[in-house]
Amino acid sequence: MKPLHLETLAVHAGRKIDSGTGAVAQPIHLSTTFQRGADGEYPLGFSYTRETNPNRKALEQCLAALEGGKEALAYASGLAVTTAALQGLQPGDHAIAPDDVYYGLRKVVAEVFGKWPIEVSYVDMTDLDALRAAIRPSTRLIWVETPSNPLMKVTDLAAVAEIARAANAVTICDSTFATPVAQRPLELGIDMVMHSTTKYFGGHSDILGGSLVTAHDNYLFERCRLSQEYGGSVPSPFDCWLLLRSIETLPWRVRGQQANAMQLAQFLETHKAVERVHYPGLESHPAHALAARQMTGGFGAMLSFQVRGGRDKTLGVAARTEIITRATSLGSTHSLIEHRASVEGRRPVPHRISSGSRRASSMYPI
Ligand code: PLP
Repeated sequence: MKPLHLETLAVHAGRKIDSGTGAVAQPIHLSTTFQRGADGEYPLGFSYTRETNPNRKALEQCLAALEGGKEALAYASGLAVTTAALQGLQPGDHAIAPDDVYYGLRKVVAEVFGKWPIEVSYVDMTDLDALRAAIRPSTRLIWVETPSNPLMKVTDLAAVAEIARAANAVTICDSTFATPVAQRPLELGIDMVMHSTTKYFGGHSDILGGSLVTAHDNYLFERCRLSQEYGGSVPSPFDCWLLLRSIETLPWRVRGQQANAMQLAQFLETHKAVERVHYPGLESHPAHALAARQMTGGFGAMLSFQVRGGRDKTLGVAARTEIITRATSLGSTHSLIEHRASVEGRRPVPHRISSGSRRASSMYPI
């Protein structure tokens, strides 16, 4: 069969017509336990829902297909994927993450793994020499996030994959801001791709989830599987069902969101109260050329911008928005705005906007 388009995979991958009823929409299997055969085996492949479940299996098949990967694991949240990957390291192992990584990763490293014998270095991964210099003989994992949250830095995935291969380290790309619509990390040589599926995949601000898709069998993926099944960080059958339902419209939602974000970024760039706009789709973005090459399906729908006049002026902008809601998160039908420096407490970027499917740019206060 010819390779299927993303739109087709989003609707069909992992699904089948229910053999018992002919139902076209997928049923939800809430049962936590499944009947053994007379021989004590599980003839249909399901035993206990923490280990696997028909809804999770369908979701994982679809997630793998969307990324062009070999296999996927679905988790209860995006940070559960991060936790699983770090748990998979051995004592004495070293990992490298971007200096502008989603702040939750730093929090997990510091608070959950603070006393574990693993070490994480943070480097500016847009500087490949800095990445090379950070590699040690014990480096096992290179975590890359592009575009990054919140500065929208763009990292060269093919170059990072090559550097990691030479160092015998596994790469994981947090591609949450890009989605498989915009960016294809596995095709660029990255070993595994993760998403907070809470964002674009769920797309309606009502599901928490995470995914890890691998291009090939590897030790860290197997450790992540253990962490999922026996650590128990699994999504419920209902969440799996709802996520798979939402994925049907993922390509179309993302394309609309990206178009809105581009308009908003262009508008903000011309506004006299705005000091700087961070959006890889703008020619003014320092890595626009790389983004145009690497993000083959668009530039994502997240942007951040800096307002002239300091903190109060900045908070004032968020305070006066209409239609755009003051709330954290991204990727849903709702456009959200957040004063990120207040959340993270240290970075210079005052605002972050996720452009939802609703047109928001004309409502933005001038
Ligand atoms: N990665 C990125 C880029 C994020 O923005 C987030 C959350 O905002 C996460 C990971 C964590 O995902 P979750 O909130 O689903 O745990």
